[in-house]
Amino acid sequence: MIDYHIHTPLCNHADGSMEAYVQSAIEKGLSEICFLDHFIAGGPGRKHSMDIEEIPLYMQAIVRLRETYGNRLTIRAGLEVDFLPDWKGVIEDILSRYDFDAIGGSYHFVNGFNVASRKSQPPSDTDARESLVESYFEGLIRMLDWPYFDFLCHPDIVKKTGLTIPARLEPLVNEFLQKFAEKGLALEFNTAGWDHAPHESYPSESLVQKCFSLNIPFTLGSDAHDPEKVAHHFDKAVSILSKTGYTTLCSYELRRSRTVSLRDWAR
Ligand SMILES: [Zn+2]
Ligand SMILES: [Zn+2]
Repeated sequence: MIDYHIHTPLCNHADGSMEAYVQSAIEKGLSEICFLDHFIAGGPGRKHSMDIEEIPLYMQAIVRLRETYGNRLTIRAGLEVDFLPDWKGVIEDILSRYDFDAIGGSYHFVNGFNVASRKSQPPSDTDARESLVESYFEGLIRMLDWPYFDFLCHPDIVKKTGLTIPARLEPLVNEFLQKFAEKGLALEFNTAGWDHAPHESYPSESLVQKCFSLNIPFTLGSDAHDPEKVAHHFDKAVSILSKTGYTTLCSYELRRSRTVSLRDWAR
């Protein structure tokens, strides 16, 4: 089994050494992981990300871990890159300079509001809450023209601070999924939501069903910011995906996707 969303302390808000994440993955019986630490190219979110100067260290650390653990675990190198059109040049430059296996695209900063921070307090007014959710999905639609990612991370992360998707926005969500399906990329099934306010995966089970009917593939990630969280809630994830009809997940090597069986998760 794979876990394609593993952080490191370089982002300034995760615990444990990179080696500890690798050891945890081996203990949990995974066959492949992808370090997908934050790269936030600019703006106020910058402090939640590794610095540009740290990227060579990050890549070297992954090479060293492969030397030690490569016979037991496939270790991929990736980045979780925020959708920040103003910083496009920086991102283009970084992606051209290193041999990443996978880039996860994320949309965290919606009209200046960090939808993924535990410290963010969403507005209490219903209209303002709904318009934030609307802006999130409008942003995801704009993100479809952004060529810098292989899969989209935690598609409905906007729920993290307790916001919900109102029924009136269902057509917008459907429009996003329809357009996303045309791109041929994968979404991430992210299990961290079970430990956050929504107490469900990102995306929710109902969205997974829509994705299946649109032939949208998934990769799988725990979003571990702590070694203990590697592969956390994967039993539930595999059960939802299998019951929906999925039999494979996407993995990546040098930004080319391949498929792995969903069935190799035996606990
Ligand atoms: Zn993070
Ligand atoms: Zn994220």
